[in-house]
Amino acid sequence: MSTPTLEQIDAALATVQDPEIKRPITELGMVDSREVDAAGVVRLTVLLTVAGCPLKDTITRDVNAALRRVDGVTDVDLTLGVMTAEQRSGLHEQLRGGQAQREIPFAQPGSLTKVYAIASGKGGVGKSSVTVNLALAMAAQGLKVGLVDADIYGHSVPAMLGVADSRPTQVEDLIMPVPAPGGVSVISIGMLKPRRDQVVAWRGPMLDRALVQMLADVYWGDLDALLLDLPPGTGDVAISLGQHLPGAEVVVVTTPQEAAAEVAERAGTMASMMHQRVVGVVENMSHLLHINPDGSQERLEIFGSGGGQRVATTLSQRFGYDVPLLGQIPLDVALREGGDAGAPVVAAAPDSPAAQALTTIARTLAGRSRGLAGMQLGLSPAGKR
Ligand code: ADP
Repeated sequence: MSTPTLEQIDAALATVQDPEIKRPITELGMVDSREVDAAGVVRLTVLLTVAGCPLKDTITRDVNAALRRVDGVTDVDLTLGVMTAEQRSGLHEQLRGGQAQREIPFAQPGSLTKVYAIASGKGGVGKSSVTVNLALAMAAQGLKVGLVDADIYGHSVPAMLGVADSRPTQVEDLIMPVPAPGGVSVISIGMLKPRRDQVVAWRGPMLDRALVQMLADVYWGDLDALLLDLPPGTGDVAISLGQHLPGAEVVVVTTPQEAAAEVAERAGTMASMMHQRVVGVVENMSHLLHINPDGSQERLEIFGSGGGQRVATTLSQRFGYDVPLLGQIPLDVALREGGDAGAPVVAAAPDSPAAQALTTIARTLAGRSRGLAGMQLGLSPAGKR
């Protein structure tokens, strides 16, 4: 077997992505030195962005796997180093790519990222569960997906994705989103707190800063879709979002219950007042599929029926454009268990009725084009879109 060339080694290393930045380590200046001897042993040093980088094991594993696939490589001797302040500042420059600080990439005219804010009238209707599952389903459909957990009351998204204890890495003033299993990058308002058990008692300006930080100071890279899990109701975060990302489109989550539908309509109307388009309604906890002792199935409508359609119809009439009911998700133990275990149902039990319903909704949202039909032109008065 012939000795591998440095070109082969470099080509293999170029297939390894930094798990947070999601770009080849060779492009990011992370490969400090590499050599290969006559016996086929590769010796290399890879520089981490920060000491104690939480993802060093992933990088080690991926580098080893990529190099061992090269013909003639017999062993890999990998040393992990840490970037100097100067190297880190160079990387920071490169990632910012000339973009001014505090600029929200998704608000720029040329942005191709679809931004969906997931809203609900009240808590407990399954908004966060819907958000994480839609994000994972879109990622499974091949989209690059980012998720912002802006729910100040719950911030349950990291736990649902199985990254509750992860903290984002920072390169100068740029925050790296946390990569979650399934390929979704996530930042949570909970990750911006000094301590996990701290209560977020932030009001308007603080929340506004936190939202801008999660949008502008996080290195999102090129995303196909960004999902935001909003706090329930019509509060400060919804207003800030409307101001910073007027092009965001809103998905309203409700249960079939009358009272839930009424507050959901208010959340949808709020979005419209902020010049955001409501793209549809998701009805969650629609029914429970009960299997009788004789094997027959029955749909138990625990929370009543019709709430989702009612919100869709009301909002369509109010705004003068079609706000469809995007789907109905049944009550499903697998969904609750998946959330508790940090393994969302679309990944953990893809054949369950809830996962199927969520996957279909994700496909609809992923397939929507951001043509003029979906764009806000900023001409009509609030509430009249
Ligand atoms: P919200 O974000 O609206 O407050 P969550 O997503 O946190 O709601 O859901 C509240 C609880 O209900 C969670 O324990 C979640 O697992 C559970 N849940 C949500 N949707 C369903 C469903 N379709 N079937 C079973 N449990 C659900």
